[in-house]
Amino acid sequence: MVDTFWDCNEKYFGNSLPTPWFETVNSINVIGKFEYHKNKRNSKKPIRDQVIKMSDCFDYPEKDFIETMVHEMIHYYIAWNRIKVIRSHGRVFMRMANEMKEKYGLNVTKKIDASSFKLTENAPKLVKRKRLFGFLFH
Ligand SMILES: [Zn+2]
Repeated sequence: MVDTFWDCNEKYFGNSLPTPWFETVNSINVIGKFEYHKNKRNSKKPIRDQVIKMSDCFDYPEKDFIETMVHEMIHYYIAWNRIKVIRSHGRVFMRMANEMKEKYGLNVTKKIDASSFKLTENAPKLVKRKRLFGFLFH
């Protein structure tokens, strides 16, 4: 995860984001997640304890893994730069997602269709027999 983060940070965010924590989550409902705590207004750093989480239930195709990482990094960028947003996937998010598409050909979406992804050993057994689709990132 960290290698992909560093790579994306350099290519798409001008190395502006400090390395966060990384965790995996054992969930088939969430593919990725960005979490943090806000710091006080006068603090040097706008946020702390920032962590990028990825589900360990999917065997991601490389491009999808990168696009999921960039999705979470847009949330991170917005929080780090104290950009006020009303909805997490609102106008600011979509403007940045569109920029990623125009400049770099990255398809950063609000949701991802995970039905074609292979499940890993970590996925719940029951799910393996079902078709999956339309999972949220957030
Ligand atoms: Zn999101």
